[in-house]
Amino acid sequence: MAGEANRGAGRRTDWTLLRAAPVPIGVSARHVHLSAEHLIALFGPGYGLAPRNPLSQPGQFAAEETLVVAGPRGALEHVRVLGPVRGKSQVELATTDCFAIGIPAVVRDSGDTAGSPGVVLVGPAGSVALTEGAIVATRHLHMTALDARHLGIANGDFAAVIVGDGRRAAMFDSVVCRVSDSYRLELHLDTDEANAAGCRSGDMVVRPYLRRHASQWI
Ligand SMILES: [Zn+2]
Repeated sequence: MAGEANRGAGRRTDWTLLRAAPVPIGVSARHVHLSAEHLIALFGPGYGLAPRNPLSQPGQFAAEETLVVAGPRGALEHVRVLGPVRGKSQVELATTDCFAIGIPAVVRDSGDTAGSPGVVLVGPAGSVALTEGAIVATRHLHMTALDARHLGIANGDFAAVIVGDGRRAAMFDSVVCRVSDSYRLELHLDTDEANAAGCRSGDMVVRPYLRRHASQWI
């Protein structure tokens, strides 16, 4: 039993403090990614998203368009659509949002929507009942290949980060590292995570650690 109790402590010694360039935090509010087919169904034939402001990840933008996202117990109004359009529609919500509309909060990597809850999207030209696609996004750390090489990180590694102000500072574990040259170094949290730690977009990670073991769940 003593060995069992020490397992966690043993693993903690595997954590390495990352001497990284400062890592900015980006807080993602609830939003919708649309397929081309669903964009037309919701906004009308020939419709194109109107970019409102660029997001920190290159090529991504917040659109002027918003939708209603409805579940069995309620609806969220004015949910921002992000562009450009994707192959598959996906709704990213905070756990609090899921509770509010009455769907399970299912934590998934972006794009991994199989078997996730459905919601109804309501736009000015129609509505779409998604059979799946409403997820709580896994917290993640975007970086370029050069960042990853500097940090000794591989795509899919897990990190832990300390974020937040002195009163509510928190360590978030199981941060999945996403490496691509189409990214910029940034930690992405949802609004529940950011609120719990008292941090906001533009704040910096206080201290990042790399976890050497492969599994997110131990
Ligand atoms: Zn992200």
